[in-house]
Amino acid sequence: MRLPYLLLDIDGVLIPFPNADGSPPATHARHDVVPTGRSADNPVTVWLNPDHGRLLMDVIRTGLVTPAWCTSWREDSTTLIGPLLGLPTLPYVDLPRLQITTSHPNGYLWKRDHVDAWLGDAPTVWIDDDFTDLDHAWAKERTARGTATLLIQPDPHLGLQPEHLTEVTKWVLQLPTDRAT
Ligand SMILES: [Mg+2]
Repeated sequence: MRLPYLLLDIDGVLIPFPNADGSPPATHARHDVVPTGRSADNPVTVWLNPDHGRLLMDVIRTGLVTPAWCTSWREDSTTLIGPLLGLPTLPYVDLPRLQITTSHPNGYLWKRDHVDAWLGDAPTVWIDDDFTDLDHAWAKERTARGTATLLIQPDPHLGLQPEHLTEVTKWVLQLPTDRAT
């Protein structure tokens, strides 16, 4: 079996939502970045946990997954966010720019149709904070068809936790290996 993709969201996963009082978690450090298309005098403040870079590298270095960004940060994920976490240049899913006012315009995550086509029949573990029941059903159906699919959904106010990445590694290790050579 080919390597599963590890699809990574950013907002609500690496950049947690602020707490009720507007404060970020104490574990996260402030950075100002200038996304593509924005003027340099109008940066966006993001909060990142430096430990996430190390934790993600631990998974990437196993060589068990093919990591790819899957986020509305698009190419900025790899040019702006990744480097702040010490991550190498990773591929990204070039998501469409839909005219939508909700992240679930059809009851499921807006990224999913594009991701489904992008993946083809590749296995994947996908970390995003915004899945609905329909996305979990999609993952189940895909797995039932023989394409291993795991969705991991962090609490957006807490973001990615070490146990989520432990789950990634455990899941990958239990996948059937291709004995054909
Ligand atoms: Mg998100």
